[in-house]
Amino acid sequence: MLRFRNTLTGNVDEFRPMREGEASFYYCGPTVWNYGHIGNFRSAIAADILRRYLKFKGYKVTHVMNITDVEDRIIAESQKAGKSIDEYTSIYIDALWEDFDALGCERPDIVPRATRHIPEMVELIEKLLASDHAYRSDDSIYYRIGSFPEYGKLSKIKFEGNIAGGSDRIKTDRYDKEDVRDFALWKAPASETEPAWDAPIGRGRPGWHIECSAMSMKYLGETFDIHAGGIDLVFPHHENEIAQSEGATGKPFVRYWIHFEHLKVDGETMSKSKGNYYTFRDIKEKGFSAAAIRYFLLSVPHNKQLNFTFDALAGAEKTVASLRDFRARLSEAKTEPGKNEKLSEAAARALREFEAGMDDDLNTSIALAAVHNLSREVNTALARKQVKAENQRELLDVIDRFDTVLNIFGEQQREMLDSEIQSLIDERQEARRRRDFGRADEIRDDLSSRGIMLEDTKDGVRWKRK
Ligand code: AMP
Ligand code: ZN
Repeated sequence: MLRFRNTLTGNVDEFRPMREGEASFYYCGPTVWNYGHIGNFRSAIAADILRRYLKFKGYKVTHVMNITDVEDRIIAESQKAGKSIDEYTSIYIDALWEDFDALGCERPDIVPRATRHIPEMVELIEKLLASDHAYRSDDSIYYRIGSFPEYGKLSKIKFEGNIAGGSDRIKTDRYDKEDVRDFALWKAPASETEPAWDAPIGRGRPGWHIECSAMSMKYLGETFDIHAGGIDLVFPHHENEIAQSEGATGKPFVRYWIHFEHLKVDGETMSKSKGNYYTFRDIKEKGFSAAAIRYFLLSVPHNKQLNFTFDALAGAEKTVASLRDFRARLSEAKTEPGKNEKLSEAAARALREFEAGMDDDLNTSIALAAVHNLSREVNTALARKQVKAENQRELLDVIDRFDTVLNIFGEQQREMLDSEIQSLIDERQEARRRRDFGRADEIRDDLSSRGIMLEDTKDGVRWKRK
């Protein structure tokens, strides 16, 4: 039975989707003003694990991830760089997909961008204005928190004492609001040069929160199964999403709220503003593999904080190498026909333990323990030549099954045919002839990683398997 810790109820709730056999979720994705740091990727990988595990359980999954491509930092940075918002963000959107792919995350099914959904946001704001959940002030539009008595139900923050009553107006630095807690839905441009859209509600640009209400409801409906994001988003972002969406529709917005705990550095949250961050690229440059980074980021369950250290990352590198080694040894083992019952039971038990762990709010550390226990037992059996042909098939299948969720074993490399090796050697000779030594080295390295050694002799290139 799959259960999630649900921030809304404060309990660990059994997952019962709205539609039998289908599960939909919305994950608050990145703000593309810079390269993502590995804290962001801890959350993206947690969302990937959620997606993959729902599929493992047999659900047909719809996974939506937004891209915030207009907000203050993007505007400031793009103006500094002399680029349009689209030109500026496209650099980081391309980088995001490169990092996503390298880290073994499946791409979400729908990836709406804020700038492409302005009419949907305007429509939602119009509804909120019509129902008095929103008001205008200085050409901007604000959400009236006092109009939504359930405000605070997600974060459990009590606001009664803080809400100023009636029409008391509070001057904040630039805006004139009825209540300090009210937040902007639509911002009038502060200057001529600030990007803005012409809309029936006036010229302006959206506040951050409104995009997630508008885009999640557009693609998943007014009520949907799961909304996920980092723990920092509970308040105010998700609280505001609930106020906007439920204010407009009068229906429950989301049934399960899942929040991922942060990646920390020396006890502090990794973040751009603190400056204590590493991008995925920084870490790759230091020689760590993407697989080790993924393993490290998912090794602790999403509902616990994880502390970043290079030692831990080095440990993950060794662990991933040993798991891959284990699978290679298992698949290459010469086995006798038949089946060893004890190993067959071990495979079934590992799968059960894996599933029990993942069912419990996606507890990846229990799931990984099941993988490691199995690998230890099978390694011993391999050394004693106790693995039979049927076990070999069954065990490789179980590993594949684990990997549909974890994606840490990587693609199984099949042995190259002699003809494939020869054609790569020919291509390398051709590259050297045109003095493209970069390509020539790349081919040599590629062959070497597949266990093929080249030897340049005066009679041509010879090769042998390691
Ligand atoms: P942002 O690009 O800041 O909008 O964040 C994108 C996603 O990363 C959101 O779901 C955040 O909650 C999440 N996030 C930000 N910092 C961290 C961190 N240190 N650890 C885990 N997740 C984070
Ligand atoms: Zn969001």
